[in-house]
Amino acid sequence: MIGNVAGFWTRPPTVLCLGLLASLATRSALAADCPGHPDAIGTERTIVVNPREHPRIGTMQYPETLPLRDHEVVLTFDDGPLPRNSDQVLKTLADNCVKATFFLIGEQARANPEGVRKLVEAGHTIGTHSQTHPLTFHKMSVEAAEKQINDGIASVAAALGDPTAIAPFFRIPGLLRADGVEEYLAGRGIQVWSTDFLADDWHHISSARVYDLATKRLEAMGKGILLLHDIHARTAAALPKILSEMKARGYKIVHVVPATLQQPATPTDPQDWQFNPPSESVPTARWPKVPNFVYAETDMLAAPALSDFNSPDSKLLLSPEPFAHMRGRGIPPPETPWPRAPETQATAASVSLPVPAEALFMVPEDAHAAFRVPPPRRVAVAGEDKPKHTASDHGSSKRAERGRGRARIAHAAPARRAPHAAAPGAKSAAHAAAAPRRPVRVAALKKR
Ligand SMILES: [Zn+2]
Repeated sequence: MIGNVAGFWTRPPTVLCLGLLASLATRSALAADCPGHPDAIGTERTIVVNPREHPRIGTMQYPETLPLRDHEVVLTFDDGPLPRNSDQVLKTLADNCVKATFFLIGEQARANPEGVRKLVEAGHTIGTHSQTHPLTFHKMSVEAAEKQINDGIASVAAALGDPTAIAPFFRIPGLLRADGVEEYLAGRGIQVWSTDFLADDWHHISSARVYDLATKRLEAMGKGILLLHDIHARTAAALPKILSEMKARGYKIVHVVPATLQQPATPTDPQDWQFNPPSESVPTARWPKVPNFVYAETDMLAAPALSDFNSPDSKLLLSPEPFAHMRGRGIPPPETPWPRAPETQATAASVSLPVPAEALFMVPEDAHAAFRVPPPRRVAVAGEDKPKHTASDHGSSKRAERGRGRARIAHAAPARRAPHAAAPGAKSAAHAAAAPRRPVRVAALKKR
């Protein structure tokens, strides 16, 4: 039986008689609307994959993953079947018209063959997960791994009575990959499934935590393969809420089946198998790599010849008057290429302008009249309290009138607004600088 199963997988999937899977795929595709379950998330679509074209998937470990669109999710369940919890998971999936992929352990299948048959009858995809689930695939011999793989397939096939009902999908226990194991599986046309994200449901955490991790990580990823375990009660308990939340957030469930003669692989482009294919809308810079120069020879470059400088007489032009030697021989200096400064007539402005008369610098007798009217600028500054400050300004003007030579007081008038100047409405530093004078002046005024 083991030999038959092994030989079965050596043939390309396209020649396999997987009529059962083909019909199941059709059924799952039609299950998007879920009679009797209006809140079901349903199964949005079914994609058909050829393991030989994409032998390893799941971005947790491999460059490629399933060709999912944004907000599409593939559910996978490992380690079953286990009667009670797996049955509960199966019911939740049925209530939601969701099709998933199960990676069964051979020993579990032998212990619970009815559970395997239920999965197939419900239209789910059946992959395998070794015979005894050893967490040593990364260090066991390829021969030992082969036996684990083949025994697991044989056990599931025995439970079904039909090896063709098993998809050529394999998940390595613990995701403990090894080159030899992957090469062996690829040679058999069996696709290795890693995953895109986890919900840590094999740990001793609550079902609420499983739900939390599943939804948060999906939200972070935006799409992908989710790895769960149908053997755990916490997973069975969390699943209804996970599916409900996925629906609420606009996620779609995708069912995956292997290609067959009757059902060829879903047409895809190579970039569809990358989690983040290159986008035309997001520019990416692909700079050429800087070559890593290796200087085989470190000889000095040859010194330039004097003639290289195009200098007459091979003389370097280093003197302050570089063209003097040419002028002396009647040779005009070469034109410089840069623009010349415009020639301006140097008029004797300092001579032609009249000398200011001394009277210009004399302060007239009635200079104080200039201070009778407060400068308009100060009124504008006091805009926030015009009546009061205007009156103050008038007052200051009057005070300025009280004596000649007291122009300083008028100049210090802004100091009366020093508090305002210090406020956001400050117009100049001069106002603030004059501020210290104010208390003195106010006190003087009060006396009067
Ligand atoms: Zn497992």
